[in-house]
Amino acid sequence: MNPDAVFVAVLVAAALAVTLGVALGWAASLIEPDADSLVERIDALLPQTQCGQCRYPGCRPYAAAIASGAAEIDRCPPGGDATVRALAALLDRSPRPLDPAFGAPKPAQVAWIDEEKCIGCARCLPACPVDAIVGAPRQMHTVITAQCTGCELCLPPCPVDCIELRPVPAVSLRYRQPRAA
Ligand code: SF4
Ligand code: SF4
Ligand code: SF4
Repeated sequence: MNPDAVFVAVLVAAALAVTLGVALGWAASLIEPDADSLVERIDALLPQTQCGQCRYPGCRPYAAAIASGAAEIDRCPPGGDATVRALAALLDRSPRPLDPAFGAPKPAQVAWIDEEKCIGCARCLPACPVDAIVGAPRQMHTVITAQCTGCELCLPPCPVDCIELRPVPAVSLRYRQPRAA
């Protein structure tokens, strides 16, 4: 083959590769989630209790609903008025009271399992949104206190009512304190 033709072919291939790379990078920048997106910033203000009291299946879906305009900012009882104020500041809206239809704020709490009563049925395991319960079928279960958000979702599935909510130790407060704006 003519050496000039080979050189031109290599140049054309290189130019195509560069063009393709730039195009792919541009396309990726359009579809990759932005770590600093509005949803992320709203989610960062929510208490991450993952309790579903806002009637969304977790804090992030609620954050997405707020960002899209589908939900108001007053639906998070664990966050209380402090979270509503933080969200209002972020979104440049007027603060409003927490909507009581979604529940009332409670003191920080954490689940505790009475291991004497636990029958090891494991029904509480899938209910926990943060994998704070340790156990296996036919073995007693226990709660990792530092992991528990106090969401109460493990209470209804327990057939022997051996789970109760107790005041949270100070080390676990990180999950229950509303975040500052
Ligand atoms: S902590 Fe608040 S935002 Fe998160 S799931 Fe519970 S109610 Fe919804
Ligand atoms: S142990 Fe119970 S209260 Fe604690 S996070 Fe899991 S489901 Fe919620
Ligand atoms: S649901 Fe209740 S009885 Fe069953 S494993 Fe959990 S704590 Fe024990």
